[in-house]
Amino acid sequence: MSLEERFEKMKQIRDEIFHLKDSPLYQYRQDNHFFPVVGEGSHVAHIMFVGEAPGKNEAETARPFCGRSGKVLDEMLESIKLNRSDVYITNIVKDRPPENRDPSEEEIKLYAPFLDRQIEIIRPQVIATLGRFSMKYIMERFGLADKVGAIGDLHGKEFPTNASYGPINIIPLYHPAVALYDGSNKETLLQDFKVLAKYIK
Ligand code: URA
Repeated sequence: MSLEERFEKMKQIRDEIFHLKDSPLYQYRQDNHFFPVVGEGSHVAHIMFVGEAPGKNEAETARPFCGRSGKVLDEMLESIKLNRSDVYITNIVKDRPPENRDPSEEEIKLYAPFLDRQIEIIRPQVIATLGRFSMKYIMERFGLADKVGAIGDLHGKEFPTNASYGPINIIPLYHPAVALYDGSNKETLLQDFKVLAKYIK
């Protein structure tokens, strides 16, 4: 697929999400003058990061991971010399849930097909999930349902499997916000990110 085609398909996804009036989060977005957060980065990225849902900073700017969790993510990327512009960063749920609550089953179901389409456009060789919701969704999506467990057991491990376009590795990571609650978690995140380093081309 050419870069132009990828760009057009992403634009189509963005437009559909923008007009997603069926979403339980649509009215909240409108009332607060928020934006949907579709994703950001390279459309030919080898590594794709999938978080949970935008927070307030993200919904105000339309950029994923641009608040406090984003600072942690930037630090992790920098630790393995990875530029934001070389990867693609998105979330399962593209609109902000009120009060930063966890995304609901219904919201995940509604927004996940957009993520599936983004994966088909970008065709990453690695999907690094950030947090337990994206871990569960992505592992189930790629035939790893029997391996899903507690994120405490699975973080930093590699799960080779197959996408429609070829082999893919799923790497569950803790959500960067864990480093905000407990500084010692940062060390774990740093160690886990080292696993990603070998996929940098
Ligand atoms: N947390 C997420 O899961 N995604 C973001 O984009 C920001 C914070």
